[in-house]
Amino acid sequence: MAAAEGKTKIFPRIKCVRAYVSESKPEDQGADCHDVEDTHWINGYPTPIANPMSGYEQYASTRKSWGINALGTLVVEVEADDGTCGVGVTIGGVPGCYIVENHLSRFVEGQDPRDVELMWDQMFRATLNYGRKGLPIQCISAIDLALWDLLGKLRNEPVYALLGGKTKQRLPVYSTTARPDIAKQLGFVGAKIPCAYGPSDGDEGLKKNVEIFKRWRETVGPDFPLMLDCYMALTVPYTVKLARALEPLGLKWIEEFLPPDSYDGYREVREALRSSTVLLTTAEHEYSRYGYQLLLNSKCVDILQPDISWLGGITEARRIVAMASANDVLVIPHGSSIYSYHLQYAFRNCPLAEFINLSPKADKIVPYFGGLFPDEPLPSNGFIDLPDRPGFGVTLCKDSLRRPFQRSDEESRAQASKNATYKSQEKPHMPF
Ligand SMILES: [Mg+2]
Repeated sequence: MAAAEGKTKIFPRIKCVRAYVSESKPEDQGADCHDVEDTHWINGYPTPIANPMSGYEQYASTRKSWGINALGTLVVEVEADDGTCGVGVTIGGVPGCYIVENHLSRFVEGQDPRDVELMWDQMFRATLNYGRKGLPIQCISAIDLALWDLLGKLRNEPVYALLGGKTKQRLPVYSTTARPDIAKQLGFVGAKIPCAYGPSDGDEGLKKNVEIFKRWRETVGPDFPLMLDCYMALTVPYTVKLARALEPLGLKWIEEFLPPDSYDGYREVREALRSSTVLLTTAEHEYSRYGYQLLLNSKCVDILQPDISWLGGITEARRIVAMASANDVLVIPHGSSIYSYHLQYAFRNCPLAEFINLSPKADKIVPYFGGLFPDEPLPSNGFIDLPDRPGFGVTLCKDSLRRPFQRSDEESRAQASKNATYKSQEKPHMPF
């Protein structure tokens, strides 16, 4: 009888949502991996990186020249009534802060933090008129990650345990880098280099792309996996030509070769490379399960690469992982550090992590999120191990954070009480 009358643990409600930009030094990218110094390798210095703007001479030299880092870091904190805080990050900067504070906070403040599905659905539906992809979904992502972090802290468990526990003892990791030789020395299980030239550089550029890859193949030897990231820069015929030229040099996969909306183009490349051993990958700039469904339906890629801090957070990512598993497709997320690692430990079809080397010359391991989380776990000898800590297991450093659209405590309290005291008046009926 006792069994506490079946009573379960009482959870605090969410008291407040806060959104911050980061005003850190230029050498600290925070959550925007492109917000780096001008002479950083990931900006295309000194070797260029082909991108969707490469066809415009004025913007061809570096990626920051067209504002790849225009938005910058967005940090979201959700605080529960008991003072426990969860943290999520994404790209979004000041415009992202506006959306979180002035629109999305109403769906979160006052809610039970366990109701992640309800909050996600309300945020998604309420932004359909201006959202669906890009910034609004990135804002939803940061809130969702903060909710999972909060839930983990309230339950005193790591997020991977909340998702169903570990499916693997250790998670192997490859490095995205300008220096595959150093990646190999550091113990990574493979390396991915950026594609330097695109169609606007003509046949000469294509030749140089093959030479660069060949040089790295000779440097790292025949057995070290090498991949190529094309950052939405190519066309269907160019991709096919390049993949065929690199196949004999042991190209493991070719990534994001077309703009994300070229669903037909991805299918055409799949058809043309049907007999190739080169794997096709994409989707770091895809959003929500609706976008991923298009890619899965057309069976155009072998590996999906969602960014967990962009596509809709953990709540949406676990749906995509399930969809991918039913299609025999692997999920190897883009960057996103701890947010990826926890997801990947929890699901069988997420076999490998990406670590983007964000040191300016790609010669040492530095935290993916810069100074945001001083205790961010780092890869070592080819694996990423997670410490036994609740939530995503990291501590936010707030030194460089600013809250541009600060709302008063009264405003949050009023918003929270609307949700906390809401009672449904529904009469029983078939609700469809
Ligand atoms: Mg990529």
